[in-house]
Parts: sequence; C-alpha cells; structure tokens
Amino acid sequence: MRLWRSVAVPRPGEYVADPTEGVTRVEDLPKPRIVRRSRNYRRRRCPRGGRNAYRLRRVERTLHDLGDPVSGRPCDLHVTYSQHRCPRCDVHFNADMDDLALPKCHYTHRVVALAVRLVVEDGLPYRAASWHLWRDHRVFVPFATVQNWVEAGGEKGGSLRRRRLPR
Ligand SMILES: [Zn+2]
Repeated sequence: MRLWRSVAVPRPGEYVADPTEGVTRVEDLPKPRIVRRSRNYRRRRCPRGGRNAYRLRRVERTLHDLGDPVSGRPCDLHVTYSQHRCPRCDVHFNADMDDLALPKCHYTHRVVALAVRLVVEDGLPYRAASWHLWRDHRVFVPFATVQNWVEAGGEKGGSLRRRRLPR
C-alpha cells in the first residue's frame, strides 16, 4: 500500500493544483509555442476602387490563441502580412486577416468567443473567467479585457441569453 501511495500519479477526483499557481514572474511561465501564419501578398485589390494595389511593406503581428492544455504551453500566432497602397485612391490598407482576429485585437476570434461564452453562458465573473482561460486553455487575458469584450458584444450576448432560455 505504501509503495502504491508513493507513485505520484493523481487518482481520479484528486485535487491537483495548477503548476503555475503562485508563479509571480512572467519568465517562469511556460514559453508559448509559435505558429506562423502568412497574409503576405504582392498585390491586393483596393477596397475603395477595386484595382490592384502593390505591397508597400511587410509587417508582423502577434495574436494570442488558445494554448495547449496537454503540454501546458500558450500558443502565439505570428502573422506576417502585407500593407498596400493604392496610388489611384491614395489609400493604405492591410491584407485581409479578418478570419483570424479583429483589427487591433491581440487575441484570435476563438479566444474572444470562448471568453464571452464563459461569462454569458456559464455566468463566470470576469476574474474567474480570466483564471479559467489561463488554467484550462493557457491563454492569459486580463479580466478587464474580458469585461470589455462582453460589454462590446452586449447586443449579441443578449440574444444568446434569450435563445438559451427554455420555453
Ligand atoms: Zn484604389
């Protein structure tokens, strides 16, 4: 019995603290896995005039995605994208990457959607949602950011809540 007890394999239902619990230094947290994505094109259609616009430069943007709960590591997308200028309309624009994230957002759609669901569907307070995102999905989102997302999606959240009510 003693021998069996000494094996450090958690039994079902046993409480095991998250290994990062109490970690206060960012450099002690697991390093993110980097996934590269490209939205880099020589030419893109101008959103205003519809003509081809050549690439002006290449830029990189980091998006935090859902991490890997098996290895415990976060996951960052490094998106290389092109910026274009249409000389005819004199507009600057970026290659389209709306499938990955909203403009200026540091997180992928998947992270935002999950965070909002945790609050709207599961009724978690913002701080608890933030901790859940880190503990179970290895993505660090400050609770104020979760709050901003939920409040920005007020309309959608409302309809979601109505749809879930049993009639
Ligand atoms: Zn144009």
